[in-house]
Amino acid sequence: MSEEKKPARKKFECQGLYNKVMANHFYELDEASKTGSKKIAWCTSVGPAELLRGMGFLVYFPENHGAMLGATRMATELIPYANAIGYSPDICSYLTSDIGSFMQKKTPLTTAYKIESVPKPDILVFNTNQCRDVQDWFAWYSRELKVPMVGIHTHRDIGEIRNFQVNDIAKQTESLIPALEKAAGQKFDIDRFKEAIELSRQASVLWRACLETASAIPSPWTFFDATIHMGPAVVARGTKEAVDYYEVLLKELNERVAGKVAAIDNERHRIYWDGMPIWGKLSTLSNQFAELNTCIVASTYCNSWIFDQLDPKDPFESMGRAYTELFIVRDEAFKEKYMQNCFEKYKFDGMIFHDAKTCPNNSNNRYGLPERISKGLGVPQLTINGDLNDLRCYSEEQAKTNIEAFIEQLDER
Ligand code: SF4
Repeated sequence: MSEEKKPARKKFECQGLYNKVMANHFYELDEASKTGSKKIAWCTSVGPAELLRGMGFLVYFPENHGAMLGATRMATELIPYANAIGYSPDICSYLTSDIGSFMQKKTPLTTAYKIESVPKPDILVFNTNQCRDVQDWFAWYSRELKVPMVGIHTHRDIGEIRNFQVNDIAKQTESLIPALEKAAGQKFDIDRFKEAIELSRQASVLWRACLETASAIPSPWTFFDATIHMGPAVVARGTKEAVDYYEVLLKELNERVAGKVAAIDNERHRIYWDGMPIWGKLSTLSNQFAELNTCIVASTYCNSWIFDQLDPKDPFESMGRAYTELFIVRDEAFKEKYMQNCFEKYKFDGMIFHDAKTCPNNSNNRYGLPERISKGLGVPQLTINGDLNDLRCYSEEQAKTNIEAFIEQLDER
């Protein structure tokens, strides 16, 4: 393909606003970290951020920092420092790259925002709904920085949700309040908490609507766009900024749908992506799929930040439900059904499973699910071996060849 014909990812008009929301998030944390003007809580990506906002904390998400380490390809160089102090190369590479980054005093925030280091926490708050690694990750910082750590232990591999599971998570969440009050230096304010719940719900409804625009043919955006634009859904959960941002993004996506503006010119194939992004190769993969006129229209990963079950009338119970209904918490039968529903909505003609070496929790290819679902739906599937952050686990040449062969297989159908 000649240079001038290479397809490019279409830029979003709201990119400037996106950059502003993300920059403000980090500048506010940096200012508070330096001056002590506000207390800071570190939170896992699906930890109780709404409760923390309700307690007046600024909230920082180490997994977002992990993704930045991956996207900037700093991770591969930093992981060995964590390995050297006993954190295995086989465990979460967000964890190992983030701890390595702290040990080496190197952060992508410096290049992006001229911020020298991640903000200092007053408390660390985890939820094991995604994996045990997050607890061990925060435990390292708790020992290193002598900061208290509290958390929620979620039920795992759940089929049908039962009330005792939801009630248990609701109670565990509520029981964090005394430790949070102590770290925050102020009393819990139920109204502020409910407000954060409502804002989180509104942002979730909008984010879901944004993702569902990809059911249009042609799709107005790709998985690669969504992995970027989900930033505010992660870091600004429970704030007005996130709601405002997704109103603007949704409007732009709907305009694209109305004008039949395709993310990928001459969209020929539509793919479902399961598992983590390969952060250091997003743009290479995005270009490869664009050149193959193939759009990745849906993913389990980007859908993980939809919490529209949240309800300010019943804040703890609805948080318990939102954290328990999460895809990653569910059993294989649920996941299979979920993907079938996605197939009906997004009309994809192929599925790609990313087997991320260091994240078994978000790799759904290991117990025969791709084969079962491929047979059930009559849709071919491909597994790519790689990792979210550790590029030593990823063979670019092999993945490229396998993807090309897979798309040829779709062409032949
Ligand atoms: S779910 Fe995977 S990527 Fe996320 S923190 Fe756990 S092990 Fe790491």
